Order: sequence, then structure tokens, then C-alpha cells
Amino acid sequence: MNYVISDFGRADAAVQNSQSRFPVRRIYLVGRNYAEHAREMGHDPNREEPFFFQKPSDAVIPSGSDFPYPPKSNNVHHEIELVVALKSGGSNINPEHALDHVYGYAVGIDITRRDLQQNMKKMGRPWEAGKSFDHSAPMSEIVPATECGHPQSGGVWLKVNDELRQQGDLNQLIWSIPEIINKLSEMFELSAGDLIFTGTPAGVGPIAKGDRLLGGVDGVGDIEITVV
Ligand code: MN
Repeated sequence: MNYVISDFGRADAAVQNSQSRFPVRRIYLVGRNYAEHAREMGHDPNREEPFFFQKPSDAVIPSGSDFPYPPKSNNVHHEIELVVALKSGGSNINPEHALDHVYGYAVGIDITRRDLQQNMKKMGRPWEAGKSFDHSAPMSEIVPATECGHPQSGGVWLKVNDELRQQGDLNQLIWSIPEIINKLSEMFELSAGDLIFTGTPAGVGPIAKGDRLLGGVDGVGDIEITVV
């Protein structure tokens, strides 16, 4: 293909024990999917319909990266999350068949400019400035489901400078992974290459330059970044 400007390529992510990469198409994220986190954000954790937002695909950065503290914020938060990577998609996917579309799983951090997000919420404006900025989706290698299975329980945790800040379990997800894929696919046509960040447990909090973030999902892997 010839383009009228230079081609900027496609975002991708590493796959465990593979030289081949996972091409990233879209990044979807689920809001408030653990009751304790919904409470800490001042919301009722009852099972209201899940809601979704997106980050640009090139927000992905690999584990081991330096994460540049983003501009225009004084309150940048970590949110550790299980990430689902799709190998196929569709619309109106039945929950019973949803896991057939999963290539594998990874550990991600949904980094959030909380002050901007709170302002946008207050003013009834879109969340992009708070959520969808450069480098805002650090992610571990993807582990194929053929290796790790389809995890339904297991610790989800994050340490900042060796201090445990977030701790939850996949068995606390308000909406399960098949339910998330089902609900998302009712609103968007899903596709191979899509990533889904599945929500964060309680304990979100601020990061600062110099911090070392280490997080993981037991049975899937871990991620480490340094804030610079
Ligand atoms: Mn999140």
C-alpha cells in the first residue's frame, strides 16, 4: 500500500515464548467491575449494566518500560487489571461461546489522570483526557490460553516500591469475562486484535516520578514499569 504520508505502522504486543507479535486493533476497558473499587470511587456496587471506554491502540507499552509521567495532571493513578486478547470476534456473541474468541491473557495497568477524569465526570464531558493518553496502557506479554487456560480466580495485585497497594481476586469480578465479551459485542463488533481491560480491584492511588510499579495476576504473569 502506498500512503500520501509516511506510514506509522500498527501497535502490537509481545507474546510469551514467541518471536511473533500480537497485533493490537482496539483497546476496550470496563469501568467499575470490582465492588470494593466501585465503593472507593463513591458508587453503588450493585450489578448495574457494565460500561465501557477505549484507549488508542498505540497507548500500549511493554513491561519493563519507563513510563513518562503524563502532562496536565497532578494525580495520576495506577489500576492493575487482567487483560483479555481476542483472536476472533463478532456481534452479539453468546456468553457460552465467548471464550472461544480468546487468544490469551495479559496483565495491564489502566493508568488514569484521575484529576482530569473527575473534572470530566463533574462537567458531563468525555473521559478521554483522563484515560486515553499516550503510554496509558502498559501491558505484560500475552500468555496464550493454551498455556494458562481461562482464569476464573487468582490474585490481582500491585505494589508501588514494594508496598502492596492493590489486592483482589478474579473471582470478585462483578461481570465475568464471558459476560463482558457478550455485553461489549452487543455494542461494538469485536475483532481479532482487540484487547479488553477487565477492571481493577480496590486500592487505586497516585504514582510519582521514580516509583517502581510491580503488579501481577496469579496464573497469568506480571508487569513492571518505572515512572520517569
Ligand atoms: Mn480501569
